[in-house]
Amino acid sequence: LQLTRELEENNRAVKVLYAELDEKADHLRRADQMKSRFLSNMSHEFRTPLSSIRALAKLLLARADGELSGEQEKQVSYILQGTVAMNEMVDDLLDLAKIEAGKVDVRAERFLVADMFSTLRGLLRPLLHSPNLALTFQEPEAELALHSDQGKLSQILRNFISNAIKYTERGDITVRAALLPEQGMMHFSVSDTGLGIAESDQALIFEEFSQIENRLQTRVKGTGLGLPLCRNLAGLLGGSVGVDSVPGAGSVFWVSIPLTYTAEGGNAAVPPYS
Ligand code: ADP
Repeated sequence: LQLTRELEENNRAVKVLYAELDEKADHLRRADQMKSRFLSNMSHEFRTPLSSIRALAKLLLARADGELSGEQEKQVSYILQGTVAMNEMVDDLLDLAKIEAGKVDVRAERFLVADMFSTLRGLLRPLLHSPNLALTFQEPEAELALHSDQGKLSQILRNFISNAIKYTERGDITVRAALLPEQGMMHFSVSDTGLGIAESDQALIFEEFSQIENRLQTRVKGTGLGLPLCRNLAGLLGGSVGVDSVPGAGSVFWVSIPLTYTAEGGNAAVPPYS
């Protein structure tokens, strides 16, 4: 009898604990939703004044016509650069908030990897900041194709490549695609000969707002939002991202996505490549 009573008491205590946990989880969920809403609203509010500042700075530079001193012109161009960086940050924040709120649609279609590479090449080559740095896209097999959201995959690769350019002073940046037929996946990698990332930071950098300390920090200002966005975008496509890196030697950022996108995030039985 004593034992039964003790058991009943224990049961009651466990139930109370569960109720408290439920309440705490609920509280955290609400706080998380509030954070997402705040970020999304704030980013929206930033957009309009930011575009005005940018447009006006551009106008000032275009109309200056010798009226601004060299120093003043430099200052206005700093304003312009600042707004470009802020714009990128606001876009990343909005994208993240949208994904978190489940408001992003995946538009899957068939496309050739070679076509995507050639668009990316055109977009990113102009960012190379030194003649000692090369950007190479390893030519994929002619017919290598995917059925997925090309825009989102390109956004991930664009982030990886522009980071590789930012954090590499000299050497090579190479972009590759490899078919993994058994897994029904396509594996993309961007390797660089740059700063590299300490092992303890490698998981951190995919978390929001976790820009890590590194030597180029003074030259390279970022938001720490690019990689979390890549992780979320890859998740939307049913894939994953990661990094292998050796500090001082370089990094390989990779993304693997299903050859065929399905809403459940699985792979269709018949892959659309030839
Ligand atoms: P951002 O580059 O805007 O700071 P990211 O989320 O894209 O934000 O990157 C987070 C951090 O990861 C960067 O601040 C940088 O320290 C590190 N990182 C990203 N890519 C590389 C790379 N290719 N080589 C070395 N460090 C990198």
